[in-house]
Amino acid sequence: MGTSYKYKCDECGYEEEFFTGGRPMTKDYHKRTEEAEEELRSAALYGKYGESIRQLMKNEREKIYINCDTELYQCMECRQFSVQIAKEMYMNRQDFTMSVEFRHECPSCHSALLRKTRGSITFCPKCKMFTAQLVSLGKFD
Ligand SMILES: [Zn+2]
Ligand SMILES: [Zn+2]
Repeated sequence: MGTSYKYKCDECGYEEEFFTGGRPMTKDYHKRTEEAEEELRSAALYGKYGESIRQLMKNEREKIYINCDTELYQCMECRQFSVQIAKEMYMNRQDFTMSVEFRHECPSCHSALLRKTRGSITFCPKCKMFTAQLVSLGKFD
């Protein structure tokens, strides 16, 4: 299961389509997300994300859900889109909910990336105007 996003800008003619999630559903994709997941777990165990996360990972490992699917991000500075492995951790207990999303860096300018969710208009990576439109949002298996 994956999602495709197509952005189009009427101002400058920019048009690009991105695929996130399991496409292509290959062994490679699974290997990549599994590796990312393992990396995240060991970094957490090593204390990279602070003491409280380290303790949780140590004591409640099986209750922690890790999302390492690919998602679409956009840079807040240079407005480039990029598909990145998500790196999110959740934990749900009756008395406690944890949700951590790790910071992603833009591959071109190293600024912070923002996850693209539903918003249909965004900044165009080419002309930088607030004119890029999400023209299609597809689902595929
Ligand atoms: Zn950037
Ligand atoms: Zn544009």
